[in-house]
Amino acid sequence: MKNSRNWIGGEWIEPTAGECAVINPSNTKEQVGVLHLSDSSQVIQAEQAAREAYGPWSGLSGPVRAGHLERMADLLQSKSGDVANLASMEMGKPIAEMRGEVSRGVNLLRYYAAEGLRANGAVIPSSEQNVLQFTRKVSLGVAGIITPWNFPVAIPIWKIAPALICGNTVVWKPAELASLTATRLAELFEEAGLPPGVINLVIGKGSQIGKAMLEQTPLDAVSFTGSTSTGLGIAQICAKRNIKYQTEMGGKNAAVVLNDADLETAVPLIVSGAFRSAGQKCTATSRIIVESGIYDSFIKKLSYALSNIKLAPALDSEAYLGPVASASQYETVMSYVHMASEQADILAQGPPLSGDQDGYYIRPIVAAGVGAGHPLIQEEIFGPVATVLEAADFEEAVALCNQSIYGLSASLFTQNLSHAHRFLDEARAGMVRVNQETAGVEYQSPFGGMKLSSSHTREQGQAALDFFTELKTCAISYR
Ligand code: NAD
Repeated sequence: MKNSRNWIGGEWIEPTAGECAVINPSNTKEQVGVLHLSDSSQVIQAEQAAREAYGPWSGLSGPVRAGHLERMADLLQSKSGDVANLASMEMGKPIAEMRGEVSRGVNLLRYYAAEGLRANGAVIPSSEQNVLQFTRKVSLGVAGIITPWNFPVAIPIWKIAPALICGNTVVWKPAELASLTATRLAELFEEAGLPPGVINLVIGKGSQIGKAMLEQTPLDAVSFTGSTSTGLGIAQICAKRNIKYQTEMGGKNAAVVLNDADLETAVPLIVSGAFRSAGQKCTATSRIIVESGIYDSFIKKLSYALSNIKLAPALDSEAYLGPVASASQYETVMSYVHMASEQADILAQGPPLSGDQDGYYIRPIVAAGVGAGHPLIQEEIFGPVATVLEAADFEEAVALCNQSIYGLSASLFTQNLSHAHRFLDEARAGMVRVNQETAGVEYQSPFGGMKLSSSHTREQGQAALDFFTELKTCAISYR
């Protein structure tokens, strides 16, 4: 049985503001561990520890900080199976996908470690003689990192690694549903020899300690990923305090299939985008927009592909999708499943659970027959439910794709170069892809959305380095 713990200033502390059982979503009769909840005093302590560590950490050279990240990567790599197992048991992501996510975490640590050895500014010609003018990217201070449960390893690391390499220290509040995994990661970072206070982990409820972090500590920056409603509230608080923030939020991503699409490519990528991780990715394909001429043959192939995927416990290495993550996720997603069975046509359904475990399993469905303004088309469901819309031509397909308050990711399936380029131009999404699924943007590329999907900042790749630093313009005269 695992226990969540706080890691503050290099000390392990079991908070006492409450506790609850961590239940395996693949088998609700199994308790995986105990979640110990913090109150605001631990958040304040964590911020103080991060602030104390900030001077020495930001004073280290880039290559020395890089060495720390390399050791964190080595440790995570050596314990990757163990971390993936725990995360699968805690939040229900199939083990094969979870292993891939841990490898992504290792790659992210190595990518940002390398940044410790790269240039972090530019020399700008001065109009005066004997003046050296240049920019430097400098750290922000203490960064608050607030993360969701759906990528319990990759999202925390894609925020923490760039924050650290730029010289910031961190207070990290993971989602309640991913707290055991977060504790395990912090244990590895300690084992890797990270100096005390550089990362401080505080476990607890977002509405309490997340809020306290923003309102009761003098954080210098906040990087948040989660729902749009929470993110907009966080943005308001940060804007009022004039601190730098980024909020990566919800999505309602469309895959558009044109008459000339290669269905052998499109169908598996759409099934994967919609149903892997049980649809619980911010970049999941949740709207499928199909041009009329190919509609019937596409639906036929989609139904066949869906009937061949496996819904199974997360630790089954052949599971295509596992359960949804929690009882409350189950209730929310099932309310949309009921809505679909009452108000839409169910075009295709995946097989039921293979086995007889009690868990938060939801059979994947594809629905159609509702208008573009219907909640099934407009609201983020975050579960294995996709809806189909028919479009008369490319122009209508793009208009439907853009008819959303969200703008995270969008895909087009076509063989037509002109439509491919026009889609890249016209789709209002932060990540636009042709003949690729809506999910799966590589870690070295900027990640983020337009409209209500993001604060218009970007994560991953070089973009994360811009977020976790600010620019200082320097000039020195040596006449
Ligand atoms: P959530 O908003 O409920 O929680 C996210 C984090 O915020 C958690 O750590 C939570 O404890 C914390 N939190 C909650 N209320 C808070 C408050 N008042 N103040 C401070 N912190 C608070 O989201 P979730 O259910 O964990 O994750 C699912 C959502 O995340 C979906 O909407 C999904 O689209 C989104 N998501 C977006 C991306 C992206 O990059 N755009 C990636 C993954 C998930």
